[in-house]
Amino acid sequence: MNNICIEIKIIVSVIFFTLFLVGLQRYEVTQHITEQFMTSKKEKNTLLLNTIAPVLGLNLSLGLNDANKEYLDQIINQNSDMEGLTLTTSDGKILYKYFKDPNKKEKKCCAIDSSNKKIIDPLTGEILATAHARFDDHEYEVMLQNNKIVTFKIFTVTLALLTFFLILIKREFRFLQELTQNVLNYDPKLNHFPTQKSTRNDEVGIIHNAILSMVEKIHTHSETLDSLNHSLELKVHERTQALEEANQQLIELTLTDPLTQLANRRAFDNYYNDMYQLAQRNRVEISIVMCDIDHFKRINDTYGHSMGDEVLKALAAILKSSLQRSSDFVARYGGEEFVIVLYDTNCNDAQALCSRIQDNLKDTDNLQFKWGFTDPITMSFGISCMIPNEAKNQTILISSADVALYKAKNEGRNRIVSI
Ligand code: GH3
Ligand code: MG
Ligand code: MG
Repeated sequence: MNNICIEIKIIVSVIFFTLFLVGLQRYEVTQHITEQFMTSKKEKNTLLLNTIAPVLGLNLSLGLNDANKEYLDQIINQNSDMEGLTLTTSDGKILYKYFKDPNKKEKKCCAIDSSNKKIIDPLTGEILATAHARFDDHEYEVMLQNNKIVTFKIFTVTLALLTFFLILIKREFRFLQELTQNVLNYDPKLNHFPTQKSTRNDEVGIIHNAILSMVEKIHTHSETLDSLNHSLELKVHERTQALEEANQQLIELTLTDPLTQLANRRAFDNYYNDMYQLAQRNRVEISIVMCDIDHFKRINDTYGHSMGDEVLKALAAILKSSLQRSSDFVARYGGEEFVIVLYDTNCNDAQALCSRIQDNLKDTDNLQFKWGFTDPITMSFGISCMIPNEAKNQTILISSADVALYKAKNEGRNRIVSI
């Protein structure tokens, strides 16, 4: 039944509906014909009584009761559908009585089965008796009954078939509703669409399979899209990481001196600014050491500029390795001049650090020998320290260290001067 296409189902439904209408029409027509028959029969019965009434009236008037009896017997013989005939006087005396079936009760209603006629004296016009005739209407009753039964059967069958087809159509709609619900709930990520193909050959089956193939395509595309997205995310992640690394390198480059790999002047400015404010907030001492290589020009002049670079690199490494605390910071201030920031350090401790650097410089003897220098390499140090209180002292601390360095140079170099 599932394979019958909707078109055929609709056609069959229309046929049944037409049958229903035709049945209704048939019932009305048959009913009408039967009623016509009944009316003409009644008219015939009335006509019969009207015909016999003058004869009965004349006989009664003449007192010919036997003649009446004979006449009525003949009438009954000639009309086989007559079931009963009585002739009763107005004072209730029964002059003639005939009943085919005496037990059969007379109908109360006005049907065709009975008819009354007043028998009038043709001479005086006086009512002499009443003739009451009863006729057999069985065949009409059967006819009406049959009509009702046949019509009822047609209605019942039509109704049953209609109901059956309605249920079928409703089933189709339920199927379509489920299909629609599945389509509405379909999420390509979950891919929970019922994947069983329909075996039906009708329109519903075709629609179901078409949707199924569409869902499969969507799923494949969604998977491709997901994997593309995933690889794209990976690429974006990789690129972002590379970019972050490049950025970091760039930042480091902008803050590092390319020759000595120490922090440059810009990095120093940032760090010193931060440490100065921290020391001011924590009310601790901060020291600045300015270091300058003694007679560096001579090295350049005697051994060449590239040899000077080598010395700069070696001394930068010594300076860096001489620092002990993580907060100690050294930067190339410019040329052959370096600056050291020492947080939470007083002048004495700063001096101790400078002495340590001087000691470490002595260890460059080997290098000196390697380089072929005759004079030892020394440095001069200018120290300035304070507990920061005002912002303007930030530059004063630097210039004081500069003054101290200048003093160290003037006092003969290779020495530590503290202000
Ligand atoms: P002083 O003891 O008074 O400091 O004498 P000095 O010779 O060290 O000082 P001066 O200012 O007279 O000379 C500094 C020299 O440092 C001059 C300059 O060419 C050299 N110099 C500066 N930067 C570099 C550099 O990056 N590489 C090299 N090789 N030399 C540099
Ligand atoms: Mg110098
Ligand atoms: Mg200098």
